[in-house]
Amino acid sequence: MNNTKALKKNNLISVIRAVTLNNDLITKPEIARQTGLTIASVSNFINELIDRNIIIEKGYDISSGGRKASLFCLNSTVYYLIAAYISLDKIQFSVYDLALNVVVDDVINYSISETSVENGIETIVTGIKKIIQNSKIDKNFFVGIGITVPGPVNFKSGCINQLVNAPKWTNVPLKNNIESKTGITTFVDKDINGMLHYIKWKERLVENGTIVVLSITDGVGAGVVIGNNIYRGNHYIAGEIGHTCIDLEGGVCNCGKRGCIELYITKENILKVANRNLTEKYNSVNNIILIAANGNKTCKDIIDKAKYGIYLCLDNIIMAYDPDEIIINCEWLIDSPNIFSDIMNMIFDNNRLAKRSEINIRLNANKKIIIQGAAMLPYEQLFGSYETSIFVNENKSSRNFY
Ligand SMILES: [Zn+2]
Repeated sequence: MNNTKALKKNNLISVIRAVTLNNDLITKPEIARQTGLTIASVSNFINELIDRNIIIEKGYDISSGGRKASLFCLNSTVYYLIAAYISLDKIQFSVYDLALNVVVDDVINYSISETSVENGIETIVTGIKKIIQNSKIDKNFFVGIGITVPGPVNFKSGCINQLVNAPKWTNVPLKNNIESKTGITTFVDKDINGMLHYIKWKERLVENGTIVVLSITDGVGAGVVIGNNIYRGNHYIAGEIGHTCIDLEGGVCNCGKRGCIELYITKENILKVANRNLTEKYNSVNNIILIAANGNKTCKDIIDKAKYGIYLCLDNIIMAYDPDEIIINCEWLIDSPNIFSDIMNMIFDNNRLAKRSEINIRLNANKKIIIQGAAMLPYEQLFGSYETSIFVNENKSSRNFY
């Protein structure tokens, strides 16, 4: 593609991005301000997007006084996205419109580590077919299916490399399997990379910055965006920080090594160790934090070790990537602001190279981010970079992508 064409397509993408980032209504002067394009260019792109039914005009902005500026928004119901998130004990399904409003969703309890891969794939296919049927949306309106899993994936081939906590799922060509059984284009990636796509499109980030997501769910991993591109490594294991060792004498992890960080900071592992030592059994880390605060030595040690593990993850991330922003996705930590504040002090009291004012570390409060991240895989293919976007490269009149 020549440079002029590439530039034009890139600019078109940046206009779409400005509109989708707001998720509500935006004027042409505001799009021009955000993209650095002239009002005339913005007008041309908006006309093209209206022509393609991607953007619609919706009333006027009366706040600025003087001449009224037209307001534009994404035509969120022109296409739909199918999302599936496979965790260790359940599979979630959702159909979203382009503004990520839920059309229908479903969740089934299912342990992928205890069943065969064939059965797992059959369950995913049945779940997808069911949710499509319940959505009552014609198949031609779906951009594609996005599936995320807790471990490394060759996202180009859609083949799962290995799930440490579900070892049967090694070298599984999930994309091919789902596409042949549903007839719909499918994208498969690691769950954290889906989250990164969500953050890229829906949250205002440092321009061209380095952003890291540290996710502490069933397992622990980091995802990195450098200048708007996801850094994956050559074998898709970049960011597998949960399997770095913090205790050479520690217990054996599912990855085969001893004393991995994951063993000390996930909700499941904290509760497993705590409940082994308590007469009453608990299912919330908050309970363990309270018992620790009331003087229980074992629980205090468990919580201290969790704090230390998260501190090490963050400190290593800072030293490895020198990020502008770190977003932590951890359900139990968001309910424990004092622990979070202790960890921040541990980092910045001990690391002389990192300055608190230069790194924004925050907790993600969006509990739907992982399943929404799965929906962002087809979304990225629709509106992502000009090289990959189906939308900027498709024939104008065609809606059917597959
Ligand atoms: Zn491990």
